[in-house]
Amino acid sequence: MRQILVAGNWKMNGDSATNAELVANILAAVPVSDNVRLLLCPPFTYISAVAAQIAGSKVSLGAQNVSEHSGGAHTGEVAAAMLRDIGCSYAIVGHSERRTLYGETSAQVANKFQAVLDAGMTPILCIGETLQEREAGRTNAVTEEQLDAVLGTSGIAAFGSAVIAYEPVWAIGTGKTASPEQAQDVHRHIRAVLEKQDRAVAATVQILYGGSMKGDNAAGLIAMQDIDGGLVGGASLQAADFLAIAGAAAQN
Ligand code: PEP
Repeated sequence: MRQILVAGNWKMNGDSATNAELVANILAAVPVSDNVRLLLCPPFTYISAVAAQIAGSKVSLGAQNVSEHSGGAHTGEVAAAMLRDIGCSYAIVGHSERRTLYGETSAQVANKFQAVLDAGMTPILCIGETLQEREAGRTNAVTEEQLDAVLGTSGIAAFGSAVIAYEPVWAIGTGKTASPEQAQDVHRHIRAVLEKQDRAVAATVQILYGGSMKGDNAAGLIAMQDIDGGLVGGASLQAADFLAIAGAAAQN
């Protein structure tokens, strides 16, 4: 049975005071379930403070982005090993906001994925289609292309140490959520793509859903066979909302 991961992507939100309160409130009510892991992904500037606050708890820490380079003359970039050094065990790569707003290519995303692995961390690879692509019937093709870029660079075995997040772009921050059936169809397809190369890896890799996941829709999504948790944006900024998703996961 795959463990459920509920990951909060805080994006560019919060400050020292609001983060401390958010983390304290989450820590006060982390669901007791060996089958659910919570992960917080603060902005770079607050990672160390959150690391200190969650020390000794069962909550994990991740970054929202990472450099594809390991170090050197890359002004403004943060290397995976640096993130590892300050307590991160995960890093998100290929979030649709990075791909669309900052022009990250699938090749760069693939390099970032490998950089995270090289630092001994777990990459969370985001893939997903736009509304236009869905309406053109290209959802499976697009997610497969995004997956293939990483498979081509890192190989199938790498997915034994990675997480995938299926995030339909039209559902991110829009309040529109994929129905459990819509999401399950794509999750199944993603797993089937991996199965063609390695059945054992495909069976164990966690595939999260992301896109306006909330306390009132999380249970239905996480109940689906191939959905192993959520990558949560907006609803990760309030402890009650995030904990409602975590609670739904714990009851799965
Ligand atoms: C995200 O940013 O990955 C995300 C899923 O955001 P939201 O939950 O706000 O749609």
